[in-house]
Amino acid sequence: MSRPRVIRCAACAGRIKPQHPHIGVEDLETGKEFAYHARPDCQKRCAEETATRLEAGKVYAMHHYHSSTCPDEAPGFGCAGGCFDTPMAVAN
Ligand SMILES: [Zn+2]
Ligand SMILES: [Zn+2]
Repeated sequence: MSRPRVIRCAACAGRIKPQHPHIGVEDLETGKEFAYHARPDCQKRCAEETATRLEAGKVYAMHHYHSSTCPDEAPGFGCAGGCFDTPMAVAN
């Protein structure tokens, strides 16, 4: 049995528990994945950093990992578990 991989948030360097909701941004070229907390600060940073990388010509796939307790079978934004309730872009 291998130990579970430690996931760290690329925005705040804090540890992300795999059973908690988080965002993965996968570099389709290298297969490397950047992870971010689902909380607004880290989501915002995720959006900014991903935009910067996209400008550099990188190709990414976004993954939204819901909480292990999320009750939705096909979870998305506004899921019953409230994993990603906060919109990534806040209108002023
Ligand atoms: Zn974070
Ligand atoms: Zn959810």
